[in-house]
Amino acid sequence: MTNVPVTDDEFREELRDWIADHLVGQFADHRGVGGPADDTAWEVRLEWERLLARDKWLNASWPVEYGGRGATPRQELIFHIEHAAAGGPYWCGVQGRDLFGPTLLEFGTAEQKARFLPEITGVREFWGQGFSEPEAGSDLAGLRTTAVLDGHEWVINGQKIWMTFGAHADWVYVLCRTNREVSKHKGISMLLVPVDQPGVDVRTIRNIAGGREFAEVFFTDARTSAEHVVGAVDGGWSVVMGTLGNERAGATVLPFQAAFEREMRKLIELATERGLTCDPVVRQKLAKAWGGLRIMQLSNDRMLQTVLHGGHPGPESSVNKLYWANWHRDVGELMVDLLGADALVVGEGYHLHPMQHTFLNSRAETIYGGANEIQRNIVGERVLGLPKEPS
Ligand SMILES: Cc1cc2nc3c(=O)[nH]c(=O)nc-3n(C[C@H](O)[C@H](O)[C@H](O)COP(=O)(O)OP(=O)(O)OC[C@H]3O[C@@H](n4cnc5c(N)ncnc54)[C@H](O)[C@@H]3O)c2cc1C
Repeated sequence: MTNVPVTDDEFREELRDWIADHLVGQFADHRGVGGPADDTAWEVRLEWERLLARDKWLNASWPVEYGGRGATPRQELIFHIEHAAAGGPYWCGVQGRDLFGPTLLEFGTAEQKARFLPEITGVREFWGQGFSEPEAGSDLAGLRTTAVLDGHEWVINGQKIWMTFGAHADWVYVLCRTNREVSKHKGISMLLVPVDQPGVDVRTIRNIAGGREFAEVFFTDARTSAEHVVGAVDGGWSVVMGTLGNERAGATVLPFQAAFEREMRKLIELATERGLTCDPVVRQKLAKAWGGLRIMQLSNDRMLQTVLHGGHPGPESSVNKLYWANWHRDVGELMVDLLGADALVVGEGYHLHPMQHTFLNSRAETIYGGANEIQRNIVGERVLGLPKEPS
């Protein structure tokens, strides 16, 4: 591969050839495996991702000095479309590359970008998102983890929970209260904290599908350098809104969309094999789900156009997040309906059918990245301009 600018067609052709040559053997056996809340086949996925990194396909639109190839945003989009359509295994490094990395590109200092971004694109360092706490999920600004400056270091105390892929994280980007004298949205900072130190205790949590991708993280006098603040000290709220906008919009849209289409095709195959397509109710449900998938694809296209023209997804991304999460949860229910008795889960060591996996993991999708009710509040107040709910 070269860093010489290429046309979109040349980029796509080079990529398709690369995928045809490399998505073989164990990688082909793991087509479409994994997801944002699913750590299945972690080692294989990691190997695949490192291969992509070696040949500079990851975050292709990032500057060359940060490990990208200086491609255009449209080419990066082409990469996602082609990768997802080919069924490449789902990312291990999604937290760093699609959530934290773009945040750092926008708000980080030159030194922070030079230090952290090449490690992310090189798949050498992994990140965890330390926002939620036991008493601060939807009401994120109510967080209680504190950070206090001690000379040239921040000292951090508190607890974070529900950290996706937290057990694999080398660093966490943590929201901390750094000022109690101001209103709760104003005294928050985003700190970058190394995990490998005595003051950080990471404990995994088992999820409903048996995966252990979650962790809760305890900070007891944990330390990080005074320079490791993203954005202004006490100004973390605007930084975190950027991260969450990415989480609700661009970061997940394309891999999900392609995975959903594959799942729908499998569901239609299952219904056909079992003779269920003669049932008019099943036919109607399948047709409705397929129609929903197309609506999702079209509204994602509209949002991606905004991103490609340099815009931020903004509060409108909540409309998409609401739509796909609820659509997928309904499809998960349809899957187990059609599986019938085969959908029953039995004890330890049982290997879940992929559709049981989808059903169970989809329950989390209307919660993470902001729960349904919170998205509806955003749409009501910030998109439609309705008055705030009386408190
Ligand atoms: C699979 C998964 C992965 C996650 N990954 C991460 C991660 O990597 N990092 C991280 O920091 N967090 C992560 N989270 C946490 C996630 O962001 C929170 O679970 C979410 O924000 C909801 O917070 P909560 O669980 O505290 O629920 P609560 O905030 O206690 O909400 C409980 C219920 O009350 C409703 N509710 C709350 N406030 C209002 C309101 N004002 N109006 C109407 N209804 C309301 C909610 O919608 C919800 O139905 C993850 C969660 C899941 C499920």
